[in-house]
Amino acid sequence: MRVLVTGGAGFIGANLCRALSARPEIDGVVALDDLSTGTAANLLGVDVTLVEGSVLDRPLLERLVGRADAVVHLAARPSVPRSLADPVASHVVNATGTMYVLEACRRTGAHLVAASSSSVYGSVAGMPRHEDLATRPLSPYAASKLATEAYVLAYATSFELPTLAFRFFNVYGPLQSAGHAYAAVVPAFLDAALHAQPLCVHGDGNQTRDFTYVGTLCEVLTDAVVRRVISPMPVNLAFGARVSLRTLIEHLSNLLGRAVEIEYGPARRGDVRESQADNTLLRSLFPDVCPVPLDAGLKRTLDWFGSRPEYAGAVQDVGLAPHASRPEYAET
Ligand code: NAD
Repeated sequence: MRVLVTGGAGFIGANLCRALSARPEIDGVVALDDLSTGTAANLLGVDVTLVEGSVLDRPLLERLVGRADAVVHLAARPSVPRSLADPVASHVVNATGTMYVLEACRRTGAHLVAASSSSVYGSVAGMPRHEDLATRPLSPYAASKLATEAYVLAYATSFELPTLAFRFFNVYGPLQSAGHAYAAVVPAFLDAALHAQPLCVHGDGNQTRDFTYVGTLCEVLTDAVVRRVISPMPVNLAFGARVSLRTLIEHLSNLLGRAVEIEYGPARRGDVRESQADNTLLRSLFPDVCPVPLDAGLKRTLDWFGSRPEYAGAVQDVGLAPHASRPEYAET
């Protein structure tokens, strides 16, 4: 089985390429990535062919999809703030890009697994979020991910395309980048804590998130590809934790063995207040998956940070054992 991963040089994509290439059922993995937020370095040491290009390049996309039995579509302009800064750019990559991927899959009948987001629930009432709830996007990013999953499901019914649209919640783990304006909360907090800087919390810190370790997420994605799992409705991919940012900070302080300084700022536009997945549908489709608990996932993430040369000094300063710096990262 040959698999194409769009966005394969990104945080989730590069972890997924590792997981896919380790499976005996999979003969070849190709990553298509324009390297806008991903990097070739994320794929160092992985048995994968990286093609630098865009999902908006239809001839290239059609060539690559034509050689694949399955496609995992992760390429996107992620992040709510990024979509507030340039809504059209998010729409073009996330919605139109998905349409092009679907058109390419339609020619060959390739199995398609695509990434939507819990942000589609937005301001709708009801917790935990189950897939039958209405969607009320709060940001252009959320609207573009709703378009992503809507097109995926529409192509399944209109053209009998075998598809599966997952709603990822807050994914974290090794390879997630920090130190930039659009960094996700776990790497942003770790980066600040390791540099002995205050952790910047937008709002009162009581907002909740359902954190998923990237290794668990990739296990589910890999299983979905290998078993060609399909679903007529989107599937929440998270495990029902409801962790406030204050609680997340407590976990990080415990892990670091010291208190961290917190700086509270105004809540961000477009951010949801509460998030927690109902995972009944996920469990019915993937009964064997056993999620990595938050503490263990955070520890692995911190270890990965510690293995990077740019954090070597910082890791020693907080009393953690420094790792020999290694360009390749093997664990998922
Ligand atoms: P990421 O930015 O690390 O990965 C996205 C990848 O897509 C990057 O490598 C980027 O270079 C690539 N890309 C962007 N535009 C492209 C284009 N036009 N053509 C080809 N490649 C392009 O982000 P991630 O966190 O790994 O996100 C992966 C997917 O998961 C995205 O679809 C995102 O919307 C979705 N998602 C992520 C989370 C999360 O918590 N990380 C939550 C919900 C949904």
